[in-house]
Amino acid sequence: MEFECPLCNSLISVSESCPKCGGEMEDLGRVEDYFDPYNPYLDKDYVSMGESSHECIHLFSCPVCGYDTRIVVNQIPH
Ligand SMILES: [Zn+2]
Ligand SMILES: [Zn+2]
Repeated sequence: MEFECPLCNSLISVSESCPKCGGEMEDLGRVEDYFDPYNPYLDKDYVSMGESSHECIHLFSCPVCGYDTRIVVNQIPH
C-alpha cells in the first residue's frame, strides 16, 4: 500500500498560529525538500523515524517574526 501526505497533495490545509506573535504560519513544504539529509541542522533519527511510520514533516514559518517549526503530518493510504 502506498502512502501520501495529504498536505503535500493539497487535500488538507493546516493553519498554525505562531506561538511567538500569534501570526498565521505558512507551510513551506516538506523539510526533506529544504535541507540536505546530511545537514547537521536536521535530527536524522527524528526524520527517519517519521519516514518509517508514514509521516511527512513540514516546515512552517511565521512571515511576521520569522519563527519556524516542524509539523508532523500523518500520511494516508491511497
Ligand atoms: Zn507532506
Ligand atoms: Zn510570529
